[in-house]
Amino acid sequence: EMWTDRMRDEIERRFHLMALNIYGLTEIIGPGVAQECHIKNGLHIFEDHFYPEVVSPETLDPLPEGEKGELVLTTLTRDGMPMIRFRTRDITALHREPCKCGRTLVRMDRITGRTDDMLKIRGVLIFPSQIEKALLEIKGVEPHYQIIVTRPQHLDEIEVQVETSKEIFSDEIRRLEEVKRKIEKHIENAIGLRVKVTLVEPKTLPRSEGKAKRVIDKRQL
Ligand SMILES: [Zn+2]
Repeated sequence: EMWTDRMRDEIERRFHLMALNIYGLTEIIGPGVAQECHIKNGLHIFEDHFYPEVVSPETLDPLPEGEKGELVLTTLTRDGMPMIRFRTRDITALHREPCKCGRTLVRMDRITGRTDDMLKIRGVLIFPSQIEKALLEIKGVEPHYQIIVTRPQHLDEIEVQVETSKEIFSDEIRRLEEVKRKIEKHIENAIGLRVKVTLVEPKTLPRSEGKAKRVIDKRQL
């Protein structure tokens, strides 16, 4: 499940526990490919069992350390069904500099998206999860949204439709404008692109079981 660092802090505070990110996938082993330590500065990959690489999802060339791309895993100790350079479709970056906890295992960033949902807007790769994360950080905004990409002339434009809480929506227009601008600024800071935000009434965006359809790409590419 998506959580922001603020949500994690709150869970830790309320339950008096330490909440850590773990990473795994069914095709490889299930949970147990990587796990955060108490420093919480990325997830240590268990390199004695898995050989990680990060490649460009477009060219499939291996990327240098620290650069974001698709995680590719090779199992080193699986007997029955070894996986060789399995494409996870998950986007992350690897970091080799030593961790304060003393472990020397490589660290991966939290997953920032899936290559399947990747969008290329004006040459910049963005993920719906980045927008979702930005929305989760704003009070009174629901993480229900839809991204509409168009190319009216030569430039791509993004509109993000966002559901607001009932309270905000029934408020005066001026206040709605304020919220709208705040969200636009927040998303712009998160993805580095200017977007147009449209606020919609609560529960008006389509819901689907399981994976929600977040992106409508109307560009003729
Ligand atoms: Zn560590």
